[in-house]
Amino acid sequence: MVKKKSYGFKTPVRRITKNVTGHKVGGELTGGECELINTQLLELNETQIHKFELIPESAVGLFNSNVGIVAIGGYFICEADIRIKLSITVNKELSEITYDIEKNRFYSIGHDFEIDLEEKIENISVAIEFIVTNKTKIEYSHFSYGFVDKLEYRENEEAYKHYANSKKTICFPEQFYFTKQYIIENSIVGNPIMSKSCNRCQRYLPINPFNQRIQLAFSNHCTTKAPCTHKNFSNYRITKSEFENSEIENIVTNNFENGYSLDPNGNIISYYGHQLECKACKKFFVNAALNHLRTSSQHREDSLRRRAFELLSRKLLGIKWIYHEFRIKTGKEFDKEIWLKFNKKCFNCNNDIKSAKVMHLDHTMPLSHLYPLDETATCLCATCNNAKSDIFPVDFYTEEKLISLSKYTGLPLELLKSRKANQKVIDLLKNKIIWFVEDFLNHPDYVRVRDGKKAADSILNSVNKAISKSDTKFDVLEEYTKLKS
Ligand SMILES: [Zn+2]
Ligand SMILES: [Zn+2]
Ligand SMILES: [Zn+2]
Repeated sequence: MVKKKSYGFKTPVRRITKNVTGHKVGGELTGGECELINTQLLELNETQIHKFELIPESAVGLFNSNVGIVAIGGYFICEADIRIKLSITVNKELSEITYDIEKNRFYSIGHDFEIDLEEKIENISVAIEFIVTNKTKIEYSHFSYGFVDKLEYRENEEAYKHYANSKKTICFPEQFYFTKQYIIENSIVGNPIMSKSCNRCQRYLPINPFNQRIQLAFSNHCTTKAPCTHKNFSNYRITKSEFENSEIENIVTNNFENGYSLDPNGNIISYYGHQLECKACKKFFVNAALNHLRTSSQHREDSLRRRAFELLSRKLLGIKWIYHEFRIKTGKEFDKEIWLKFNKKCFNCNNDIKSAKVMHLDHTMPLSHLYPLDETATCLCATCNNAKSDIFPVDFYTEEKLISLSKYTGLPLELLKSRKANQKVIDLLKNKIIWFVEDFLNHPDYVRVRDGKKAADSILNSVNKAISKSDTKFDVLEEYTKLKS
């Protein structure tokens, strides 16, 4: 029999990967590669300022307009508490921002300034000032400055909305899309850290080697469901290393937090995993396209579940809605009291908060673990509240901050350092399982099917998750079945 000739014309044509979110893979890097690099290290005895001049002619118009952006930023960690001031001067106009850098905590920092390119620009300079009181070591990586020049920003007016309206510090300095790195005068080689690839902008940017939950250029992939078992998100192939192969294991074991390990193939494994896209790409080019879909279903589901958790824990504890309770007990407004208690400042970043209305109340101990809102709430700014979300204080604040938080809130330090669900609520729940399943979860709001899902299922799921982080582990439905048989 004559073998049929194959001409190959039926071979499927490979299309550019592009799905409904408008997200497309930008190149060879998949987000699963990493580099082992050294920080730059500066040893300072006193306050120091480094100033850099820019050439005004090389400013780039962005967003199809005459707006140009000058920016400066990088990733810093320091062995003592210091302040870093970033400033941008255009002609004689000065714009600056100060970051309080707590010791031994990695920070992503940046500052930007919009310039009108139609106006005559005489000179532009940027500066970084390290304000130190004692001799100290500062380490940094990916320090850069210059004009923001991203092709997609140049052509895209829509991007301006995201750029200008974003809670900026969340995406600083990633959203400047710097491709160069600069070394500050007198720097020497520092210590090992990691940078990871972004599958969209194809840059390598830092992930936090010392505390994955304090995220740098990438958000975590799995938090409540950690360890992240999604290989693409948690398994990084080392593509470049400034160290000998024989040193790598030692570095991963001894220099990095224990949420990182080396697998037998020599890949770095991350406990929480990280997104494939850097924060800026995720926000500007992935989520922006997804946002309209999210608002309708995801947000509603989230807020319904949060309200259910608030209600459930209050019902079990037999307490009223804190706003109501507080007014009856003290005759005062709850929000305002918390705002005043925290001296009208965000507890995390120390920025002033103009009024109680713009303050964001954080549960301190997370609502997802059945701690309802009460007098122990923390006053945060929008940015910090967004970053903290449902994280346990111990995974968000430094030791010193925890001590201070204990004083402000009156919560025992031991509790603030724990990662346990509200045991009191869970004990009460265990005695009211039938009520919980038959009454509480049967509320019409929770059993109505939306987008093919019942809120009751997601509430039950989340409650079981909280119970798994308590001293009395049980499964609600198993317990219910036992009681009914
Ligand atoms: Zn990116
Ligand atoms: Zn994951
Ligand atoms: Zn803040």
